[in-house]
Formats: sequence, C-alpha cells, structure tokens
Amino acid sequence: MFNLILFGPPGAGKGTQAVKIAKKYNWIHVSTGDILRAEVSQGSPLGLQVKAVMEAGHLVSDELLIEIMKSVFLKHEEAEGFVFDGFPRTLKQAEELDKLLVGLNHPVNQVISLEVNEDELVTRLLKRAMEQGRVDDTEEVIKNRLVQYHKHTKPLQLYYQEQGIYTEVHGVGGIDDIFESLCRAIRI
Ligand code: AMP
Repeated sequence: MFNLILFGPPGAGKGTQAVKIAKKYNWIHVSTGDILRAEVSQGSPLGLQVKAVMEAGHLVSDELLIEIMKSVFLKHEEAEGFVFDGFPRTLKQAEELDKLLVGLNHPVNQVISLEVNEDELVTRLLKRAMEQGRVDDTEEVIKNRLVQYHKHTKPLQLYYQEQGIYTEVHGVGGIDDIFESLCRAIRI
C-alpha cells in the first residue's frame, strides 16, 4: 500500500491532480473537503454541524476529521494506496493519521507540496468561485482560508521534512505538465 499526501494551500490544484494520480496508480482519492461538502448537501447531522464552519473558511474540528478518516479506512480495507487531498491540515491530524496508519502497518510514504504563489492562488480561487459557485470562495473567506493554512497547516511541512518524506513540485503551468512533474516525483 502506498500513502501519498498532496500538500499545499487552497487553490494549489491538489484536487485536480489527486484525481489524476488516483486514476493512474489505482489509489483511492480522499478529499476531506469533498466528503464534508457531500454531508452538507445531504443535510446530514454531520453536515449541519460543519456547514457554518466551512462557509466561514475555518477548520472543522480534528475529532470529526479523525472519525471521518477511520471510516474511510474501514470502507477501503483492500486499497492499493491512498492519495490524501486536504488532509491532514493540523499537527494533531498528522499525528492521528500516523497512528491510524501504523495500526494498518503502512505509514505515510511521501508528502508532495504543490508550490503556487499567493497572487496566483487568490486569482484561481476567485475564478473557481465564479465557475463552481463554492460558498467558501468569496474574497473575504478566501483570505481567511489562507490565514488558516499559514497558521495551522503550513507548519506540517517541518513535521514531514524531519521524517525525510517531503518534496516540492512547481504547481504553476499546464495541468498535464504539473501532473508529469508529480509522477516523476512519486517514489513508489
Ligand atoms: P477543501 O475543499 O479541502 O478546501 O476544504 C473545504 C473546507 O472543508 C475547509 O475550508 C474546511 O472548512 C473543511 N475541511 C476540509 N478538510 C479539512 C481538514 N482536514 N481539517 C479541517 N477542516 C477541513
């Protein structure tokens, strides 16, 4: 089993690339944002609980995310690999993921960061707001999501660098070119 974390701020292109990677390597794409959005649109109890937090661009609680990950692993016991997109986003989540994966005997193999400058991120997120109508892609909320990223998520870089599993890939350019760079960076 191979466990790859795609790392980077909102708008870096993690979702787009994770779909392509999952298809090529036959891994499960785990987007916690997609899982949470599905709960919100179904109006489930979990969805009702997280709706306002997501719309404000804040992070959903670590406890909820860890429960979600447990159910992902239960659902995909036979998986050949996972590509995580948007998870972990806090040190607590990273530590809990390590614990869960050690339990499964398959630690995180690699963390690849998609490097995109901040101006480009905001431009992309505003464009996505127009195209997809995501309620958390307004200018105010975008700023908040980037603040959350720098405060809670970016520090994970060091956590993974210390484990020697962190790599960076340039995330600006054509989707297929970036995909090729990612595939070259993946060390199966
Ligand atoms: P995303 O699509 O990954 O940008 O996620 C959209 C929103 O879902 C985020 O702004 C958070 O409110 C919530 N979310 C997704 N993944 C996580 C996570 N790992 N930890 C906390 N909140 C999350």
